[in-house]
Amino acid sequence: MNRKEFLTQSFAAGLGLALVPGFLSNCSTAAPVFELPVVSSGELQRVRGNVFRYTHRGGTIGILETGDGFTVIDAQFPDTIKPLLDALSVKGKPVEFLCNTHHHGDHTSGNIAFRGLTDKVIAHRAVPGLQQKAAEKNKTLDAQLYAHILFDEKYSFSSGKEKITGYHFGNGHTLGDAMYHFENANVVHMGDLMFMNMIPVYRTADGADSVQWISVLQQAQRFFDDDTVFIFGHAGTLAHTVGTKSNLKEMADFLAATNDFLDKAIKGGVSNAELLKSHDFVPGFEHRKTPERFPGYLDEVRKTLQNS
Ligand SMILES: [Zn+2]
Repeated sequence: MNRKEFLTQSFAAGLGLALVPGFLSNCSTAAPVFELPVVSSGELQRVRGNVFRYTHRGGTIGILETGDGFTVIDAQFPDTIKPLLDALSVKGKPVEFLCNTHHHGDHTSGNIAFRGLTDKVIAHRAVPGLQQKAAEKNKTLDAQLYAHILFDEKYSFSSGKEKITGYHFGNGHTLGDAMYHFENANVVHMGDLMFMNMIPVYRTADGADSVQWISVLQQAQRFFDDDTVFIFGHAGTLAHTVGTKSNLKEMADFLAATNDFLDKAIKGGVSNAELLKSHDFVPGFEHRKTPERFPGYLDEVRKTLQNS
């Protein structure tokens, strides 16, 4: 054995695990694992590999760390994103990309905190217009930072050895929904296409469509594989902000049950006021009971069904 062969074999033996077939077939576990940043408030947990999630107030934030820097998905509010950005800055790497999953204020108000950190802000093409319209209404035009790398159906970029792709499979929650796939880690941030154990925010004026939304979730179930881990925009607890395809199916089933419930009422000439006398949740989905959101949700979904 010459010196080179000896070194190669010693290196392989030293790795040990590298000779286990399962290890070689799973790229996500082969990626270097960076230490979880330490936040002063909010909650931060590892999802898989170098993808983390952060909850504080507003939509769940996704974070990728690579040798080059950070990619952040969504921004909550300026005050709640700050502890996260402070924690990332300790690592001495740049924030390379900010991606928005849609325009809602609990996902984009914190964009402004990225001014001076990165000029690469990515979103679906419909997002800046909707964000600006909402900011005009809320008199917060001075506090906005808009995405300018805009896409219609698909956009890919890289950080270190990770490839990230944004997808728009049609409107569901809003006209500008995007999901972002960290391909090697095989983690997808779903934004507000996924609400766990509660009634989703649903406004037809923003492009919410309970029929299209089911189609978007079905496309995602076909497109991603059984190993994919999904991050959800909203859930009652930190533990429920991640899940699997089975959760996407449950959300699609919930939307289908809502459509069915209201279709029958429309055909039978039953008003929402009458429905509310005997129902406080969509039949079969008591675990999604959200009293303060239920009447408005029924009114808005009825609009979708009557216009389709
Ligand atoms: Zn939303």
